[in-house]
Amino acid sequence: MMPPHMRFRRRSFLGLLFLFSLSTSALYFIYSAPGIVNEYLFMVQARGMRIRENMRNIGAQVLEQVVRSAYSINGTDYPYDFNLSETAAPPTPYLPEGFTYLPSDFCPEKLPGMKGRLQVNMSEIALEEVERDLRQADASLRLGGHWKPQDCIPRWKVAILVPFRNRHEHLPILFRHLIPVLQRQRLQFGFYVVEQAGDEPFNRAMLFNVGFKEAMKDLHWDCVIFHDVDHILENDRNYYGCSDMPRHFAVKLNKYSYMLPYDEFFGGVSGLTAEQFQKINGFPNAFWGWGGEDDDLWNRVQYAGYTVSRPSGDIGRYMSIPHHHRGEVQFLGRYTLLRHSKERQRLDGLNNLHYSPQVARRNLYTNISVALSRDMAPVVDY
Ligand code: UDP
Ligand code: BGC
Ligand code: MN
Repeated sequence: MMPPHMRFRRRSFLGLLFLFSLSTSALYFIYSAPGIVNEYLFMVQARGMRIRENMRNIGAQVLEQVVRSAYSINGTDYPYDFNLSETAAPPTPYLPEGFTYLPSDFCPEKLPGMKGRLQVNMSEIALEEVERDLRQADASLRLGGHWKPQDCIPRWKVAILVPFRNRHEHLPILFRHLIPVLQRQRLQFGFYVVEQAGDEPFNRAMLFNVGFKEAMKDLHWDCVIFHDVDHILENDRNYYGCSDMPRHFAVKLNKYSYMLPYDEFFGGVSGLTAEQFQKINGFPNAFWGWGGEDDDLWNRVQYAGYTVSRPSGDIGRYMSIPHHHRGEVQFLGRYTLLRHSKERQRLDGLNNLHYSPQVARRNLYTNISVALSRDMAPVVDY
């Protein structure tokens, strides 16, 4: 029989050994599976940010209700613009009603016809009906959804690229809403619906690369907008021209309670000049399934030395068309790929992509159908 002090020592030694092996295996895990750990940390951080923002927003909304009820008389609103989440921006000088310009002038960016907040109509409609109505409203709308202003020189020639698979009911809703806005903004534009054929997981980024290459064969576009089919803008002062910096348009989405989910969010609707997009080597081709490709684009833009610009205040509000489609599977490998954004930027993008599209001109858009597979964008070891 062992004396009690020996028993104690033996037990504490075993305990220490146990603790030691536990911590080394934890260290080994962190070391050997940084992807999983990083992904977990990212998720925790993102959740935390979202919860904090939600709390702030709920607080602001409660306060807003209190102030509203205190100031409203017979249900009329108090006259202040009450938005705690924005720093006070100086009022934007939009041109006065009746402002005139010549056909030889560049179109102004802040036209009096751009009134701000829009009504959103999400009801389903047939594409032919939208085509007819838009043509009736403006006969100069051409095949492929090409249009340019007649009364001034457009500042930007904008290609709108829409990644697409099996969301047919969304397209007419988007066109019905967006085309009149772009006409009021006096931009030259054309639509390209880039449709993924085949059974591979959806690859939004690769579709945008294909769309970019095809659109540039069509016309010398100087600005390219990457536009989800289900994003409906709520403010026509959200100007779809480009600028000296890449732009993120879809800042406040109803599905995220009208808050930016995180500072680096670059999803939904973004835009770059053709030159900027070439310079960053386009989107990565390696993101199959849902998620990450927009984050990688953000990284590319940063590594190229750009700073993303965004519309201020409520100008960047959007509503998503509710969809009943089964969502794409999440791409869980995205965090691992995102850690190598920098090395991959020059290896994977516009420069390693080979594809054979079928292009068909429709009334409101050019349809680019393309079957995607992994061997279409080989990446050499890095
Ligand atoms: N998309 C599509 N069909 C699909 C999946 C995606 O057309 O099966 C396109 C569509 O333009 C959509 C965008 O890719 O708006 C982003 O996908 P989704 O709406 O599923 O992403 P979420 O809004 O859930 O982030
Ligand atoms: C994904 C992005 C997505 C964002 C917001 C991120 O985890 O990587 O692709 O846009 O969540 O939903
Ligand atoms: Mn969506």
